[in-house]
Amino acid sequence: MKFNTKVIHGGQHHEPHTGSVNVPVFLTSTFAQETPGKLKAGYEYSRGANPTRQALEDSLASIENGHTGLAFGSGLAAIDAVLKLLNPGDHVLAVDDLYGGTYRLFTRLFSKYQLEFTFVSFDKVDSLGGELKENTKMVWIETPTNPLMKLVDIKKVSELVKGKNILVAVDNTFATPYLQRPLDLGADIVMHSATKYLGGHSDVIAGALIAKTKELGEALHFIQFASGGILGPHDSYLVLRGIKTLSLRMERHCENGQKVAEFLEKHPKIDKIFYPGLPSNPQYELAKSQMSGFGGMVSFTFKSGEQKDAVKFLESIKVFTLAESLGGVESLANHPTTMTHASIPAEKRQELGITDDLVRLSVGVEDIEDLLSDLESALSF
Ligand SMILES: *Cc1c(COP(=O)(O)O)cnc(C)c1O
Repeated sequence: MKFNTKVIHGGQHHEPHTGSVNVPVFLTSTFAQETPGKLKAGYEYSRGANPTRQALEDSLASIENGHTGLAFGSGLAAIDAVLKLLNPGDHVLAVDDLYGGTYRLFTRLFSKYQLEFTFVSFDKVDSLGGELKENTKMVWIETPTNPLMKLVDIKKVSELVKGKNILVAVDNTFATPYLQRPLDLGADIVMHSATKYLGGHSDVIAGALIAKTKELGEALHFIQFASGGILGPHDSYLVLRGIKTLSLRMERHCENGQKVAEFLEKHPKIDKIFYPGLPSNPQYELAKSQMSGFGGMVSFTFKSGEQKDAVKFLESIKVFTLAESLGGVESLANHPTTMTHASIPAEKRQELGITDDLVRLSVGVEDIEDLLSDLESALSF
């Protein structure tokens, strides 16, 4: 099956008893057994497996070309499960421009359990070898990164650690498998905040993991079962429904994102634009080779460099909504310094380039004329 067919049919089958075309929402915690230990259809207790969640998990494995999919109660619960593959004393090499919540989970929670983290720029993969230590067991990548849209060359990183017993995990939330499939590029684990593009309608908090191999899938399923951070059946249904239109939505997100980036690039009040689809972007060539499109996330700063201009803009937008999160059909705008990235210390933010005048847009699937005129009028102050 090709990708647009997989988002609808990958790993799916009609419900065997009634022929129901959609998987029912199996609101059950437990399953009847005929004789002790003999299960009717392999289901025992919904923390271990639930048919609605299973349908979503099979869809996830299909669209990311992995062996096993797993659905969690949030993106962070999914990351939490990946980190539990490690042992005290292990070291994780992570990209420095990370989602704020990932950074918080690593530095404030897992560091308590003797896991060691270093955060570095992955701009020059060739010189990254020196950052690997004897106890390095995982490389954590986000690409494009949140909020500066920096790219990491997944293939090069995977080649760098090949044969070293180091797992490569990729947060693929921004790109989605429609634009980028990390497992095909050599990664071992893909992670998603399914809250974002996979769900696509800003109506659910969910997370996903996709493991390349059966062994890794089993290890992660054990952690999911033993720790219990599962996604409920109703939310699983919502994400599965979202995935069916992923291709259609992403196509429009890419179209609109590109036009918004080009509009902002010409605007006299705007200084820097962070969008991989602009030829002026230093990573444009990598973007073209690693991704099949550039998505709907666009960040920018003001010529004035002042937070008050970002605030003025964010108070004036009407079609865009000022809110955290991203990846839904509706356009959203966010101020990383005070909202999504407030958990990163101020000095660290400055060092990374997350300046106080930075605005991040999640460009939705509305008519582009309405989005551009909203931006135009919110910028006329
Ligand atoms: C939102 C987000 C997360 C966290 O996911 P939740 O579903 O909010 O727990 C992780 N990574 C990225 C890139 C995100 O945007």
